[in-house]
Amino acid sequence: MLTKLKEQVLNANLELVKNGLVIYTWGNVSAIDRKTRLVAIKPSGIAYSILNVDDIVVVNLDGQVVEGILNPSVDLQTHLVLYKKFDKIGGIAHTHSTYATAYAQANKSILPYGTTHADYFYGEIPCTRPLTEDEVEYNYEYSTGKVIIRTFENCDPLAIPACLVGNHGVFAWGESAEEAVHNATVTEQCAKMAYLTETLCPGAKPIDQYLLDKHFNRKHGKNASYGQKGSL
Ligand SMILES: [Zn+2]
Repeated sequence: MLTKLKEQVLNANLELVKNGLVIYTWGNVSAIDRKTRLVAIKPSGIAYSILNVDDIVVVNLDGQVVEGILNPSVDLQTHLVLYKKFDKIGGIAHTHSTYATAYAQANKSILPYGTTHADYFYGEIPCTRPLTEDEVEYNYEYSTGKVIIRTFENCDPLAIPACLVGNHGVFAWGESAEEAVHNATVTEQCAKMAYLTETLCPGAKPIDQYLLDKHFNRKHGKNASYGQKGSL
């Protein structure tokens, strides 16, 4: 069932390791098939080195396992909340990558200081408020999804395809599992650059709006000009 989607999820999970975003069993990636409304996700606690396509768990949007013998990632409920609310996304990646997580631990957003950031994110990568004791105690992973949704109330998740969760880490998303990992990787890189910028120049100002507009829109706007037209 959904073999192609499971392969994409497997490869995207392995890409997290390759890109230095996770160690041990940290992190997870999922993808959704919007037609069947089924989600393929990494199993919980399985080392990346032995992970194979049959280990990928398929669940429905209620979190019930429909294929696979392993337990899904403990973060499953967060993924499901995001898939239900952000109906244009197809993949989600969760990491505790170092620099981005340092911002999450400082409860600080990653400000857009330059064009690298502007090529991917139309503004700051926000950080949610920390979860309350009740939210942590009951439905922790579900509450994590909800606090991300609340943070994006006035924000297009396709224009800002990542969020920091206060005192926790990164959730990034995209049209596919591959794109979600790509955005998680760029989030880490932007966090590193922002950290260095703030270290070199405390109080540094974010990029001017017109330059942010230019860079984001030439890659993502209606008249995007980045890349090649057609298949070359
Ligand atoms: Zn986590």
